[in-house]
Amino acid sequence: MAYQSWAEELKQNFDETVSWRRYLHEHPEPSFEEKETAKFIEEKLKSFGVDEIRTNVGNGYGIVGTIKGGQPGPTVALRADFDALRVKEAADVPFKSKNEGIMHACGHDGHTASLLSAAKILAQHKDELKGNVVLLHQHAEELLPGGAKSMVEEGALDGVDYVFGIHLGAEQELGKVLYNYSFGSANSDTFTMKVQGKGGHGAAPHDTHDALTIGAQIIAGLQQVVSRLTDPVKPAVLTFAGFNAGGEAYNIIADSAEINGTVRTMHGDIQDMIESKLKSVSSGIAEAFDATLDIDYVRGYPSIQNDAAEVNKLKEKFLTVFGEDEIEEVEGAMGGEDFAYYLKEKPGAFLRVGAKFPEDDAPYPHHHPRFVIHEQSLLRSGEVFLAIVDEYLN
Ligand code: MN
Repeated sequence: MAYQSWAEELKQNFDETVSWRRYLHEHPEPSFEEKETAKFIEEKLKSFGVDEIRTNVGNGYGIVGTIKGGQPGPTVALRADFDALRVKEAADVPFKSKNEGIMHACGHDGHTASLLSAAKILAQHKDELKGNVVLLHQHAEELLPGGAKSMVEEGALDGVDYVFGIHLGAEQELGKVLYNYSFGSANSDTFTMKVQGKGGHGAAPHDTHDALTIGAQIIAGLQQVVSRLTDPVKPAVLTFAGFNAGGEAYNIIADSAEINGTVRTMHGDIQDMIESKLKSVSSGIAEAFDATLDIDYVRGYPSIQNDAAEVNKLKEKFLTVFGEDEIEEVEGAMGGEDFAYYLKEKPGAFLRVGAKFPEDDAPYPHHHPRFVIHEQSLLRSGEVFLAIVDEYLN
């Protein structure tokens, strides 16, 4: 097992890994605009002696690096996303964002630094590898349509046998490696409905088709889709995030209403059912009260479906290298992640690594202006990448 000596070298390079993370944190770029970030990554990969580097892969600045092993064997892809968010940083850190209104508020700076740190070690030891390592440095995870799908379409997974990714978790115990046997994220869809009624005088409701009360009926009626029509052992969330109607004056009945929200599911049959009921129930209610309804339902990222066989293999590996106290099986969560597109093509898994400050009982969530990660998590996620490669290529 080469892992122990690789991990030792990784630890020796930890200060450098932190300095990369801090540089990226100070220079965040939003999805599809990560030009300088991509340049930084490309330069690092070149300096490590990565054999092949493809840039501008997909619909943005995606990078695919290949480390060719000295001996034949399978190809394992490791993914780190590198985009930031349009969030104004309020975290009290000495390496605060220098790009006004943009922040690495999801930890993608940490993902990138830890994949680079692992890549550096692997490139130094490529002669030992029985197989190849593909580095997927992905742009634009945070903004639809995302970068992953287009990178896959442009061949990022050509010749790849397995694909793995890591997300740091600011709310999970520092250094814990979290794995999940089935769904790692949800089908994340959005919808906008427009109810077109007929406005009029507040004292003459019979001459109008009140878009506000019709909209309210639609929201109330749709509550039954999850509570009564969804198989209770299959998760589903229907969230209304906005309802705008009327409000011009006390005596005017609303002419139109706009409603929007998100639908989160894990199973395809539930996703299909909710989309269909969302349309039929809302148009039925609108029609019953003489209004018309336009609905725009947009399917976002699909759910992550981890491969149980690969998760099991990794679990055994992590038990050996990290020990029982450092790993934990978790339930799926209803967030969205475009890593799902890689797992649609190849077997693999999406893992989480805890990055919570041990003394912090109420960590700020991802995407919050005060979001922080503990940098010790970068070492652990680098170790996870190395352990995966050791498992598959040694
Ligand atoms: Mn993220």
